[in-house]
Amino acid sequence: MRCRRCKKPAVVEVRRHNAAFCDSCFQAYVHAQVRKAVDGLGMFSCDERILVAVSGGKDSLALWDILISQGYRVDGLYLGLGVGEYSKRSQRACEAFASERRVNLRVYDTAIEEGYDVPRAAKGPRTPCSVCGLAKRHLFNRLALEGGYDVVATGHNLDDEAAVLLGNVLRWETGYLARQKPVLQSTHPGLARKVKPLYRVAERETAAYAVLRDIDYVVQECPLAVGNTQIELKHALDAIEETSPGTKHAFLFGFLERAAKAFEGEDAVELHACSRCDMPTGGALELCAYCRMRDSLTGSRGPSAEEERL
Ligand code: AMP
Ligand code: ZN
Repeated sequence: MRCRRCKKPAVVEVRRHNAAFCDSCFQAYVHAQVRKAVDGLGMFSCDERILVAVSGGKDSLALWDILISQGYRVDGLYLGLGVGEYSKRSQRACEAFASERRVNLRVYDTAIEEGYDVPRAAKGPRTPCSVCGLAKRHLFNRLALEGGYDVVATGHNLDDEAAVLLGNVLRWETGYLARQKPVLQSTHPGLARKVKPLYRVAERETAAYAVLRDIDYVVQECPLAVGNTQIELKHALDAIEETSPGTKHAFLFGFLERAAKAFEGEDAVELHACSRCDMPTGGALELCAYCRMRDSLTGSRGPSAEEERL
């Protein structure tokens, strides 16, 4: 097989585009996809400060690498969620990446800073993945605002987005479908802009990119996530993709281009400030879901936002 661009021997095949690339043309292809996402959707500009959430896995470290080499002002954030050896290895991978490239990484350990970790939290009514998702959503937003960043970037790739879309469509979660976008603009001073610059890049492409760039990433998936719905949905899509290459791409891009508009506004809720953390929250309760979860785990009421300001 020959590279589509330069005709040298190819090292990576991209079946959905019916193409193959040599090492350097493949890297250029991935960079072009990210540029198309960032510039095409106005995710951020060169003078803005970006916080990239890095898990130590291939996607988020590849994203950090790409944004650094494209000249963006980008720092990393790793959340230590206390999942034993897996979390320790993930943290080490992020730290090694940051020190090799001399870039800033913030490590935020929930056990130290917030008084809980995910394995302990998962002994309550919530599953580990729901505790983890809630913690990540809240902390990415809060830490980005506190750090003066303009935008939070995550490493969600095309496969992640297609699997989430499938889950949302299967249950017609119209509120979630309204929020399933590669860019979530800040609609409130307490909400940072959230972007997914890898949404045009498939998972096996981010893996190939990380290998070609010599990025030392953690291959293991979170042991607490094994068998969760998201992983099962990915397997289902993988099976379809195997016999019908391009299905995931067509599913996700068809939705974004032709169907997403139909769900606009379905997620509209009136927001008020959580009386503990001051972050915007919907619904009738005084505390946001994160503060309620943290209270139930730490058994503490903690100071209210008002008390903390005094
Ligand atoms: P996941 O929800 O594990 O599929 O991860 C989706 C994205 O969230 C990753 O690509 C990262 O950008 C981010 N992420 C996941 N885990 C962490 C973590 N422990 N610390 C910081 N960012 C994370
Ligand atoms: Zn709160």
